Amino acid sequence: MSKRVFNFGAGPCTLPLPVLEEAQKEFTNFSDSGMSVIELSHRSKEYDAVHQEAMTLSKEVFGVPDEFEVMFIQGGATLQFSMIPMNLLQEGQKAAYVNCGAWSKKAIADAKVYGDIYLAWDGSEENFIRMPKAEEYALSENTRYLHITSNETIGGIRMTEWPEVDVPLVADMSSDYMSRSIPWEKFDLVYGGAQKNLGPAGMAIVFIRKSICAEENKNLGSYLRYDLHCGKESLYNTPPVFSIYMMGKVLKWMKSQGGLEGMEKSAIEKSGTIYDVIDNSDGYFNNPVDEASRSWMNIVFRLPSEELEQKLIKEATAAGIIGLKGHKSVGGCRASCYNSLPMEGVKALKEFMELFQKNNPA
Ligand SMILES: *Cc1c(COP(=O)(O)O)cnc(C)c1O
Repeated sequence: MSKRVFNFGAGPCTLPLPVLEEAQKEFTNFSDSGMSVIELSHRSKEYDAVHQEAMTLSKEVFGVPDEFEVMFIQGGATLQFSMIPMNLLQEGQKAAYVNCGAWSKKAIADAKVYGDIYLAWDGSEENFIRMPKAEEYALSENTRYLHITSNETIGGIRMTEWPEVDVPLVADMSSDYMSRSIPWEKFDLVYGGAQKNLGPAGMAIVFIRKSICAEENKNLGSYLRYDLHCGKESLYNTPPVFSIYMMGKVLKWMKSQGGLEGMEKSAIEKSGTIYDVIDNSDGYFNNPVDEASRSWMNIVFRLPSEELEQKLIKEATAAGIIGLKGHKSVGGCRASCYNSLPMEGVKALKEFMELFQKNNPA
């Protein structure tokens, strides 16, 4: 493959070319240290500058208020499925979860290992075609938090209304992280894996309300305790330096592209372009979710037959448009348009889809 492809994969994601080129240029001799960033001591002044900048930028770009601390924790979003109930739930407390698709199911399954969990809303009977409305939650007493998934990566649905509830929210934002502003006052904890909107895989970025940091959890192993990560500036142990370094560069790039507002605008434009192709196809392409819950990041669509879906994926790949295969659990096609995916790629996909329809009538 001689040139870069347009990567519509659901994760890990495509990253901005200037970011990759900059990393390549400084790889063997970072900041005149005579070594690469992944060989440097994580206590060195050269690495410290990288680390501090990534922490500062993550809060700045996302507009995170001072009441929150940022933590880079290994184990991706998946480890947070366990760490959250382990740390937040005290004796006699329950946690409410929204079941809105594949990822929320995993969060629920892990939480059940550690605590008293119930569903405040369940989309399974409607086949996960939409997110709940702001007032649609059934909460019971002694609920410590309501866990939501802001964007379901596999089902292609997005939360457009934040819950109007009396308990703090905890949110998995892995697949639409830092692509829109959020009402921080509603949240106790926001987390997500880095590899969809922000950088390479290998860690979760966790924004935690500082008041939670005071809660000691002596019955957990050290790495699992938020209170031990608090105030340690993500240096409780050796951090995933390469992921942090790359994410810092992506955040800087995001800032140069208009920050959160720029990302939101671009997400609306990119997803809108593809939904337009779908809506203007006379039913040839079909997006199976409720229009109001359509994801800006993961656009799922079906064709008149599975044969045509396979043909489309194959021909798109040959044309340098890759990653369109839907998740194996649901089939069909999915175009993921994360922050770093250029509009140019979306235009290429639009033209490809229109031509494909013309050449392959149902
Ligand atoms: C990808 C994804 C995860 C899992 O992230 P890992 O970092 O691989 O653990 C969790 N939640 C959502 C919504 C995702 O899209």
